[in-house]
Amino acid sequence: MTLSRCPAIGCEMPTNPGMFMCRPHWFGLPKPIRDRVYQCWRAYLRDRQSEQLIDHAEICDEAIRFTAEKEGRAPPGPADQRAARLRLRLLADMRAERGAAS
Ligand SMILES: [Zn+2]
Repeated sequence: MTLSRCPAIGCEMPTNPGMFMCRPHWFGLPKPIRDRVYQCWRAYLRDRQSEQLIDHAEICDEAIRFTAEKEGRAPPGPADQRAARLRLRLLADMRAERGAAS
């Protein structure tokens, strides 16, 4: 797996495998958002339903939007593009995981 970059707009920090954002951005999120990111991901790992993956992508979008607004950066356009890339990355990780599990 290639090292990923933090999806926050303007952030160039690499993220560790399995981490959604770099440490400063992740801990800059309100706890309810962080909890929800984990909850959605765990639910998906448990049931493997594509709707759960979409729920997860949506809360990730929200986290990216929240971070952009907090930092006074323009949110929707670029954030959505980054979220789309993140989604593809998640799908790739997922396939890799499934391959490893079976
Ligand atoms: Zn970051």
